[in-house]
Amino acid sequence: MSKAIEKVFPQTRHRLCIWHLHQNAQSHLGKLKSDKTFYDAFQRCITGCIDSYDFEECWKAMVENHNLQNNSWIQRLYELREKWSNAFNKEYFSTGILSSQRSESINHALGFKAKKTTNLTEFYGLFKQTIERWRSNELSDEFQCIRGQPTTALPMTRIIEQASKVYTLTVFKDFEKQFMRCLAGSFSLLSEEYDFKLYQVKDGQHTYQVSFYNVMSTLVSCTCNLFEECGMLCSHCLRILLTHLIDKIPDCYINKRWTKLAKQALWDKNVEQQSKSTQPWRHQFVKNCLNLALQVQDNENARRLVEDGLESIRLAALQEMKNTISETNEAQDLETCSESSISVKDPKKSVTKGRKQRIKGHLEKNTKKKRKSVDESNLQKPNEFGSKTPNQHLF
Ligand SMILES: [Zn+2]
Repeated sequence: MSKAIEKVFPQTRHRLCIWHLHQNAQSHLGKLKSDKTFYDAFQRCITGCIDSYDFEECWKAMVENHNLQNNSWIQRLYELREKWSNAFNKEYFSTGILSSQRSESINHALGFKAKKTTNLTEFYGLFKQTIERWRSNELSDEFQCIRGQPTTALPMTRIIEQASKVYTLTVFKDFEKQFMRCLAGSFSLLSEEYDFKLYQVKDGQHTYQVSFYNVMSTLVSCTCNLFEECGMLCSHCLRILLTHLIDKIPDCYINKRWTKLAKQALWDKNVEQQSKSTQPWRHQFVKNCLNLALQVQDNENARRLVEDGLESIRLAALQEMKNTISETNEAQDLETCSESSISVKDPKKSVTKGRKQRIKGHLEKNTKKKRKSVDESNLQKPNEFGSKTPNQHLF
């Protein structure tokens, strides 16, 4: 399976379930697994290391402290480190899932009620009940998300308000935790070059580097790679955004799958509405103009060049608008002319096969007799189809 995954999904990372890893550790390491010091060191190697260098140090210390140099299971585990340690997988989107919890959850949900003596029919009933319960829960959660607004102890600033409107209730709680951590974090500027800034953010025992760029659009990234791994901005990035008075999560950092609009139809509708609005273009254009003004403001010749260029662009744009309006009017005139010249005729009356062979009911026969005297002339000269409202008794 491992080789097949590498071949078929080259952009993904095959990972081992850490629940099974702990189970195997128990059988291979025996009493050592219940040693608190070992457990903490092992757990840190799995989830607590920030990068590969950190992992190597922790692993080496753990192996030496517990004399595991010659343990074959530990050696094999080290060879597979990229498949189970978070330190090597932060750039792969995994939503933070570390175990095969979905499969385990299904096993648990069904295994809980099913017994060894359960036959296939009973099993199907249990399976159906479980699926129905899950779907009902999903619908209920979806309803709560769309109708409900999450409560928060934080002041409803613009960024919190945006997150509460965009994210689902569960994801909002995760965002809230990141936001609260960001308020406690301290930072310092490491380097600056033109519009690019590099910060160092301290979070507990660890320090992370956050790069920030805000010219054409706001770009922010952190060495903790939380966004790459889980699709949400980390507390370190939020800290830097707030420092630059950016009180809105940039659109490119809102992962669709975490939003209330995760269902495709709702998302498409939202994108369509946004694309019709000229506001993003206006916003971007004003930013570009401002950047240009800041760049040329100290040079008189450059200023004049920009002003002259802007005036000629303005005149050309106005001319283009006039051309577009006249083209549209001409097209409308042509459409009106062509519409008025077409004369629409009634279609030919169709005679379907087997119509004469149909056995008529007694009501139809009686009605025909009654109508014969009145509509005799009409029946002899049939009307064009659609020119007369049919008698409903005939059908
Ligand atoms: Zn971070």
